[in-house]
Amino acid sequence: MSPAQESIKDADFILPPDVDAKSFVAAMDEMRKVVGSENLEIITAAKMMPDSDGHYFNLPREHDLFYCLEKDTFLASAVIVPGSVEDVSAIVKLANKYLVPLWPISRGRNLGYGGAAPRLRGSVVLDMGGRMNKVLNIDDEHATALLEPGVSYFSLYGYLQNNGHKHLWIDSPDLGGGSVVGNALDRGAGYTPYGEHFSMHCGMEVVLPNGEIIRTGMGSLPENNTWQLFQYGYGPYPDGIFSQSNFGIVTKLGIWLMPDPGNAPTIRNTLIDAAVYAQKAEYSLSKEVLTETEVDEIAKKIGVGRWNIYGALYGPEPMRKLQWEVIRSTLMTVPGASFQFAADVEKEPKAKVLHMREETLKGIPNTYELGWLDWTCKNGSLLGFSPISPVTGADASRQYEMVKRRFHEFGFDYIGTFVVGWRELHHIVCLTFDKTDPDSRRRAHRCIELLIDDAAKLGYGEYRTHTAFMDQIASVYNWNNNSTLRFNETLKDALDPNGILAPGKSGIWPKRLRNRGFEIQRSSPTSDGASSKP
Ligand code: ADP
Repeated sequence: MSPAQESIKDADFILPPDVDAKSFVAAMDEMRKVVGSENLEIITAAKMMPDSDGHYFNLPREHDLFYCLEKDTFLASAVIVPGSVEDVSAIVKLANKYLVPLWPISRGRNLGYGGAAPRLRGSVVLDMGGRMNKVLNIDDEHATALLEPGVSYFSLYGYLQNNGHKHLWIDSPDLGGGSVVGNALDRGAGYTPYGEHFSMHCGMEVVLPNGEIIRTGMGSLPENNTWQLFQYGYGPYPDGIFSQSNFGIVTKLGIWLMPDPGNAPTIRNTLIDAAVYAQKAEYSLSKEVLTETEVDEIAKKIGVGRWNIYGALYGPEPMRKLQWEVIRSTLMTVPGASFQFAADVEKEPKAKVLHMREETLKGIPNTYELGWLDWTCKNGSLLGFSPISPVTGADASRQYEMVKRRFHEFGFDYIGTFVVGWRELHHIVCLTFDKTDPDSRRRAHRCIELLIDDAAKLGYGEYRTHTAFMDQIASVYNWNNNSTLRFNETLKDALDPNGILAPGKSGIWPKRLRNRGFEIQRSSPTSDGASSKP
């Protein structure tokens, strides 16, 4: 053994389970040869404690910007930036050789759901977007795109604007800096008729956990010209198993663009709008959860209602006029209802939420909604809680009461929005907290932990979650003695026998790491001592 090798100590690294420092260093040496030394960064304890945590535009890739447990709970051992699908395949093969787990991200802006950080401490973050960030193809005639993981909503929008495709619209979620591919894979949502992002994808290229590369749908037919036109191809349709999963790394994704859009409204509460403009302290001296009367006063001050529907009508003007007449006469039967058009509202001295939503409804990416992060403190953090329900008033009210009760118990103002989907409501609840205050973090974490079980008892499940709650949510999707989780584990063990790809994602652990204490249990039992029954 050389002196250099002898001096390698476990304590110098953020090691994944079952890997000692020597084999970690050997793995990194081999991976460095694949991507080049400038594209591989080893994280050390010292490196991970900078004074500043970064922010939305300068994101930490090794830990969660908005950590709700300890800062180093979900911490990466290294960050690797591959430059091609061949690089990815080679890295995956080496990961199998050394049992080094990989955690792929696209832009890593998974705000409120864990950011770029891996679920399993010591995993290597594979930054798929750093160099693989090209718009590979735009098909004007059929309104489709083929993208690499690093293409953000801003960059796709810019590409279409600057390359003669202005007639093609995209659907952007609230924040435009995220990856189109990453958001579709995590089944994120937007606000136009193309807002159901995963449904709008067509064709994938995927590196499997053994390093093999496949193309789904028509992509498996050589020389095909319909990869982005027909979603299914021939035989079983596997695309779904690569979303919110740890069964593959997506290197290319086709998506449909919007030539002729329709309408998709959101229903937002007063405070989410108020928080876009300013901090809580500018509206109220109260340090407590705001009372109903105080929220009424804020609504009056910023000129909105307690609930506000933002929507758009699309198509030729005569059609829009007809549609508006039907909508207006229906909605105006609601006591106290009123309406405004963006064009009739002064933009000066400051643009209103109505103007901001107008951009979003036109598919123009923006970052206005970052505003409400700071509701109770500067540099505030976000935890997302997002249960799904039918599109009924009764369900929306039940969910609102359920969340408000827990938020009040733990000292948080309710900030949320109901996004109307094709057949369901995405209820997006935004818990803002102060990560620099351990008590605020504890309350935020416990509040969501209890809400997950509250929701399950009422039959509501979350569509997506922060890394800290992946195991808990998998545990409430437990019909027929957890048959779904067992099915996922069967697939996982077949596809990833060494357990190297994103262990723990969506609560799916590979055999090698299952039941070894990496699952996160509830911090204490829920009030009645149980999660929902199968
Ligand atoms: P965004 O920047 O759009 O918010 P992220 O890059 O944070 O999205 O991705 C969200 C989640 O989707 C990640 O945590 C990861 O689990 C999954 N993911 C992202 N990109 C890929 C990819 N290329 N292959 C497989 N899974 C991915």
